[in-house]
Amino acid sequence: MIADPPSQLVDRYGRQVSYLRISVTDRCDLRCVYCMTPETRFVPRAQLLTLEEIVRLGRNFVALGVNKIRITGGEPLVRKNVIRVFEQLGALEGLRELTLTTNGTQLPRFARDLVSAGVKRVNISLDSLRPERFRRITRNGELHKVLRGIDAALGAGFERVKINSVILRNRNHDEVVDLVRFAFGRGMDISFIEEMPLGMIDDHDRAEAHYPSAAIRRDLADHFELIESAERTGGPSRYYQVRGHANRIGFISPHTHNFCDSCNRVRLTATGRLLLCLGQEHSMQLRPVLRAHPLDDAPVQSAIRAAMDLKPRGHDFQLGGIPVIARHMNTTGG
Ligand code: SAM
Ligand code: SF4
Repeated sequence: MIADPPSQLVDRYGRQVSYLRISVTDRCDLRCVYCMTPETRFVPRAQLLTLEEIVRLGRNFVALGVNKIRITGGEPLVRKNVIRVFEQLGALEGLRELTLTTNGTQLPRFARDLVSAGVKRVNISLDSLRPERFRRITRNGELHKVLRGIDAALGAGFERVKINSVILRNRNHDEVVDLVRFAFGRGMDISFIEEMPLGMIDDHDRAEAHYPSAAIRRDLADHFELIESAERTGGPSRYYQVRGHANRIGFISPHTHNFCDSCNRVRLTATGRLLLCLGQEHSMQLRPVLRAHPLDDAPVQSAIRAAMDLKPRGHDFQLGGIPVIARHMNTTGG
């Protein structure tokens, strides 16, 4: 494979930013207990970037050396006409990878169009295989819709479909073996995620519900032989091979393994705020720059470059107490 040119986006700590995550909406058809509260209000539509503005920003990031874009949310597939964003970003020269994180409910409708638009990999969130429990965690979500979405993704021709599971003590921690078997049985990798303290929630005490990745590995060790992989993706995941299986298990452990030193990513919210760190508020508003210069991308690129100086060294998640970060994951582009 030909090496990508170095990104022009370098922060004060010498980290090259080559990965952009775009939240195309903060809205969602589910309300997972760790992500939102039942009262969570969504941003008025007038404040959202238009689809054209999202594509324009994506194009400018790619011009500056970003080679991977992940579309996320909220639930990205509930945004009207969002497929246009995939089609236009997917056609950008210089973009090596266009990916999606979704809760899966809309995949029966969109999976084939996503593949046609050039999406090669998709992450689907699934925290439980038990309908009642799934309903409880997602506040009324229907498991069978997500399972249908997974089937649609597997049938549509993506290069990789991966499962993401947020694991909470006494809510779903006893399902990790079943979730691995489910994923492996369908040829999918799976990543287990520790809950992050983003925004106030009212469902549970995050410190009490914390279930560390190390505990998951211990639970899995009774059933699988895990072999730590040296592979690093520049991201927060640590991967393990499993003897006798082709698929891998990833762990995203913000509390027990700080991944900031190799951070290569920034996030764009649905309103056009560029977040330089998942766990800090350092940011720059790009929507006013876009609207002040509708026909000239030079000021947009200058603003993006300047924002790199705001990228903090790292996050400092605390398990207990009031979260330092008020925004929830659905507005963050998790
Ligand atoms: N709605 C889509 C989904 O659920 O996949 C995309 C957006 S969602 C915010 C992205 C990922 O963030 C999901 O895998 C979800 O489980 C995870 N997530 C949400 N809130 C979280 C939190 N507080 N801590 C850790 N992961 C969280
Ligand atoms: Fe929606 Fe995803 Fe948040 Fe669940 S985690 S409420 S599916 S945005």
